[in-house]
Amino acid sequence: MTDAPALSELTTMRVGGPARSLVTATTEEGLIAAARDAYAAGEPVLLLGGGSNTVVADDGFDGTVIRIATRGIERVDAGRAGGGRPDAVRLRVQAGESWDDVVALAVRNRWAGIEALSGIPGSVGAAPVQNIGAYGQELSSVLVAVDLLDPATGKVHRVAAGDLELGYRTSALKRGFLGVVVAVELELSQRPDVGAALGEPIAYPQLADALAVGLGTRVSLGEVRRTVLRLRASKGMVLDPHDADSVSAGSFFTNPIVSARFAHGLPPEAPRWRLAPDEPDLVAPLDGSTAEESAAVGMLADAAADRERRRARAESPDGPGVKLSAAWLIERAGISRGFALPGSRAAISGKHTLAITNRGGASALEIAQLASFVQGRVQAEFGVLLRPEPVLVGIEL
Ligand SMILES: Cc1cc2nc3c(=O)[nH]c(=O)nc-3n(C[C@H](O)[C@H](O)[C@H](O)COP(=O)(O)OP(=O)(O)OC[C@H]3O[C@@H](n4cnc5c(N)ncnc54)[C@H](O)[C@@H]3O)c2cc1C
Repeated sequence: MTDAPALSELTTMRVGGPARSLVTATTEEGLIAAARDAYAAGEPVLLLGGGSNTVVADDGFDGTVIRIATRGIERVDAGRAGGGRPDAVRLRVQAGESWDDVVALAVRNRWAGIEALSGIPGSVGAAPVQNIGAYGQELSSVLVAVDLLDPATGKVHRVAAGDLELGYRTSALKRGFLGVVVAVELELSQRPDVGAALGEPIAYPQLADALAVGLGTRVSLGEVRRTVLRLRASKGMVLDPHDADSVSAGSFFTNPIVSARFAHGLPPEAPRWRLAPDEPDLVAPLDGSTAEESAAVGMLADAAADRERRRARAESPDGPGVKLSAAWLIERAGISRGFALPGSRAAISGKHTLAITNRGGASALEIAQLASFVQGRVQAEFGVLLRPEPVLVGIEL
């Protein structure tokens, strides 16, 4: 028996049974104490921020859920923190802060670097877990370090961003390296007090089109934020109680990364992007073993060796050097917006093929069945196994 609420109430997909127990941490000290207690008790622990990237099984979670609701944003002296640029603004942000509140604060204060990440739901502490990204920006470009609680010792260490293996929608934390992000340090760029406060150069074609500017143009922070929010709303990608398409975990699948040789065999019209040499590979090759699984071993200790290994592979002719569009593959496999299996309350978003939505009262099983169906169709059509983007708790795909 548990007094804890069903996890469907704490996650944006709105599925999931109860936890054995639930602790809500509202202060840094409280979070550290709760994490130490739970790990010392040796029971399974599930960390939860906004629950916007977590899909929990109908059976719930047989352990302690620590809900992170800590608050606080402080300026850090960049010089003391290790020598930032002269225009650098360093912030230490508590894990439980809302990510989008931080973006809004940055835009108000003329701090550039995260304006294109407007509207991403969830907490600051979860942002490094999958290295959040959108519209040409990624957390990795502004993340300096995290304060990380080590479950084994209960101690909090400062871990530099470079040691977190941040990649496309992934990090060491997502690939199995355990740790509680207690706080995050970001470095933004202070724009001068006079004139328009310009953002970073626009790096995403769709955003450039919506702003009616060329790629590489700098546009005011406020304009970028407003435009990104508008674009995201048109795809059901901002949480909105009036938009049934936003009852989701965002994109359900990552864009697959395959070797150049494999990509060559796909229809010529399949969208594809060549990766930078040191971008990590994420998607299962056809034999089912993934680089992310093998990279989970040794994690931070041999991060540099791992980077080298990936770089070498990306440069080889067989290297996984091409990113494909998961949305295109899904659509071309015959699954369109709004698709649902017969009688199911889970459906593909009406606005965006990559999102699986709960149309009201869906079970986690229904979500998983639809996700498996999509995977199966894409694999049968193209030989590519789509990988889920959200963290699945008690659900196998
Ligand atoms: C409508 C919608 C749109 C989205 N759009 C985007 C997008 O454009 N780009 C993008 O990258 N993501 C997107 N997402 C996914 C999601 O918003 C992000 O992944 C976000 O960072 C999750 O934050 P959260 O606090 O809700 O995470 P949660 O779901 O609470 O947790 C996610 C994972 O992080 C772990 N975790 C949480 N807090 C901590 C902590 N303090 N320390 C260690 N581990 C922790 C959890 O255990 C879990 O494994 C979208 C989601 C939705 C619903």
